[in-house]
Amino acid sequence: MQSNRIFELRKTLEIIKADAVVINDPDNVFYLSGFTGYGDGTLLITSTEAFLLTDSRYDIQAHEEAPLYNVKMIRMPDSDEFVSLVKECRIKNLAFENCYVSYTFWKLLNDKLSFCNLVNLDDAVINQRMIKDESEVKIIKKACEIAGTAFLEMKHLIVPGVREVDVAAELELRMRKKGAIKPSFDTILASGYRAAMPHGAASEKVIMAGEPVTCDFGAFYKGYCSDMTRTVFAEGEADETLLKIYDIVKEAHDLAIVSFKPGMTGYDLDKIARDCIESYGYGKEFGHSLGHGIGTQVHEAPSVSKKGDIVLEKGMIFSVEPGIYIEGLGGVRIEDLALVTDTGLEVITIG
Ligand code: ZN
Ligand code: ZN
Repeated sequence: MQSNRIFELRKTLEIIKADAVVINDPDNVFYLSGFTGYGDGTLLITSTEAFLLTDSRYDIQAHEEAPLYNVKMIRMPDSDEFVSLVKECRIKNLAFENCYVSYTFWKLLNDKLSFCNLVNLDDAVINQRMIKDESEVKIIKKACEIAGTAFLEMKHLIVPGVREVDVAAELELRMRKKGAIKPSFDTILASGYRAAMPHGAASEKVIMAGEPVTCDFGAFYKGYCSDMTRTVFAEGEADETLLKIYDIVKEAHDLAIVSFKPGMTGYDLDKIARDCIESYGYGKEFGHSLGHGIGTQVHEAPSVSKKGDIVLEKGMIFSVEPGIYIEGLGGVRIEDLALVTDTGLEVITIG
């Protein structure tokens, strides 16, 4: 796990001619070390050594969670001890994460570490994170199971007269009881006309008879996220157009999943679902991407969209979530997570 990830990163360091790298992005720190003190840990990885820098609050936790690392009580970002450590390790070419460097740390790099040549690591770790290893797949599947079974157990509570916030609270409580540390994002629960808002967080609106209710939710479990959407209709007479839209969204969703072949790009897969929805005349009402990668963050690379130029490879996990939204009337979205296998896609969300 972590040892393989460090090994891969060291290969990148060789390519970019850096003899060490400093990792600040909390997700990358967790990915490479297992340390969950998000935001309070920094890694310094050389070709032979790996240090986790944190403070005394995390002393026991850091040793437990990151056994591959030499844990040092060095407070970042502005620290003379860090400068001494870099000198001790005889680091000449130091890589850094350009997207996650604070101004204070940048000043330290430039003022006190001016003897080092700075090398941009760019998105190397983010790119590494796109392909999930076995342990990650297992955890994400479990996060999917927690969310999916929680939903199945409580979806009968989505009835006319109930408020959106009450449904969301019940769903979140059940996910927590099944082992989720928290929801992986603010639960989206949008009924009736509010279902036309793709990201309508749960409100105090009361669900009315026949209304569509879009439930988009996920569990955060052992550092990883799940994400799924179900649109259900509250008991009562539903609008004909919305029922028709439901079938179109389902068709686009299923078509994308069965048509996928490894080697396609995010653009190719997005186009399959988009063409399907466009053929029914609802192209403009499908305004967002078909999907996104997922892992320690709900949204991460690769993008499954018009701009998705990354080839979707074995081990990647991303969402497939077409939707149609009509202002004033409502909307429908169906979302599942899928894992790329040797031959196609394995849907890993349940329920
Ligand atoms: Zn979602
Ligand atoms: Zn999503």
